[in-house]
Amino acid sequence: MTEIAFDHSYSRLPDKFFIRTMPTPVASPRLIKLNLDLVYQLGLDDRWLNSAEGIHMLAGNNVPRGANPIATAYAGHQFGYFVPRLGDGRAILLGEVIDRDGVRRDIQLKGAGPTPFSRGGDGRAALGPVLREYILSEAMNALRIPTTRALAAVLTGETVARETSLPGAVITRVASSHIRIGTFQFFAARGDIEGVRALADHVIARHYPEAAEGEMPYLSLLAAVIEAQASLVAQWMLAGFIHGVMNTDNMSIAGETIDYGPCAFLDNYDPATVFSSIDHAGRYAYGNQGPVALWNLVRLAESLLPLLADDQDRAVSLAQNALATFDAQFQTVFITGMRRKLGLFTEEENDLTLIKELLDTMTKSQADFTLTFRYLSHSAETINDDEKVLNLFTEPSAFREWLARWRSRISREPQTGFERRTAMLHVNPLFIPRNHRVEAVIAAAVQNNNFRPLEELLTVLGEPFEDQAEFAHYAKPPEIHERVLETFCGT
Ligand code: AMP
Ligand code: MG
Ligand code: MG
Repeated sequence: MTEIAFDHSYSRLPDKFFIRTMPTPVASPRLIKLNLDLVYQLGLDDRWLNSAEGIHMLAGNNVPRGANPIATAYAGHQFGYFVPRLGDGRAILLGEVIDRDGVRRDIQLKGAGPTPFSRGGDGRAALGPVLREYILSEAMNALRIPTTRALAAVLTGETVARETSLPGAVITRVASSHIRIGTFQFFAARGDIEGVRALADHVIARHYPEAAEGEMPYLSLLAAVIEAQASLVAQWMLAGFIHGVMNTDNMSIAGETIDYGPCAFLDNYDPATVFSSIDHAGRYAYGNQGPVALWNLVRLAESLLPLLADDQDRAVSLAQNALATFDAQFQTVFITGMRRKLGLFTEEENDLTLIKELLDTMTKSQADFTLTFRYLSHSAETINDDEKVLNLFTEPSAFREWLARWRSRISREPQTGFERRTAMLHVNPLFIPRNHRVEAVIAAAVQNNNFRPLEELLTVLGEPFEDQAEFAHYAKPPEIHERVLETFCGT
């Protein structure tokens, strides 16, 4: 009986890439949530995962046949400061499976006990952050943004000591890979060029096979990661997502959103928004995410320099040329996405101005980011619906002027109001994981052992573009007293 058909590639790399590490068993595992869509996508057996044996596996109490548990090595810049050795301090990679679409996916237990990379940490995860990661990563997936997924969450039946004693949990994370910019930095910082090369070859074969075909595969690899990251972070901006800890060890080489910590979505639009309690300088503020992604990619380019050319001056100039494309790629994805959000089918030169004017007006009027675009979708069909979107602005007059400019812009296109509205509703979600809702779900789980609010929130967020009338209250921004302005790393 093989419960999971593992197919290992990372653990076949040289020993220096990882340390073999077993999960540490926990007292009494209890399943919180199993992600059936993902179970199916991975070709796994839901009945087995739901059985006592499966749940014990998800908690790290038994290792499934064929698994090859490892903790991977990586370094990283944390808030701008380089740490040469971080690594999986509380995550254990069981192995890889090939999913129904032929895509290789990592299966990793996060919170499964200490590893040789744990430093002072306990290797565990508290229930709150596990639920936050589960909710936000699945919401991102439903919003069609590249992301790691959550396969399952289990309670350990043990507590973890944080500021207080909290229930412990394990999340099973699924990713295209867990290779980070910091993985390249780990070898580069040691002057281990062969390590960098082996990693680059692995990444090309696994994520960017087209890069192998050109004359300069490693330069093509760098270009491909730049493109993937530019696109990813532009998509974050379009959704109002703030990652919160864009350290280089939290940036996936595959271009997926990874390592959900103190992340959150904007309510009212303001580029200076920061939720993370540890981001005092606002390094990872919403509006900084593009520049920070580029800063991180410069660190990747530095790590790859020895592979780019024998002559290091030439390597630097090749890297610089590749990095110089970031801004244009980011802008293209952003503007294309914004045009869709505004229901524009054509391109006009002044579109960027129109977009900027809207965002400025939203900032000044503290308009809700998500609802502005959602309600504007209705205004595309009938002027009678303007009241709804106008009500989101504290000073509606400036926005009223903008609406007139938008109407004259769309009047130059042949589409009917119905067509425009339909297209807009398809890209402008009604439901995002609003911070106050996420916190309420976590509070019910942690304080009252009540997971029904979790189930309901996951249901709602699974169809973010559908008007789910019975759940209309989930779309509402927080009242002033409901606002949650700070999120904690609270590992
Ligand atoms: P993060 O801020 O979550 O990206 O984690 C940064 C580093 O700290 C990584 O090397 C993690 O593996 C490690 N880490 C975070 N939490 C813990 C923990 N509870 N026990 C051990 N290591 C941890
Ligand atoms: Mg991390
Ligand atoms: Mg983390």
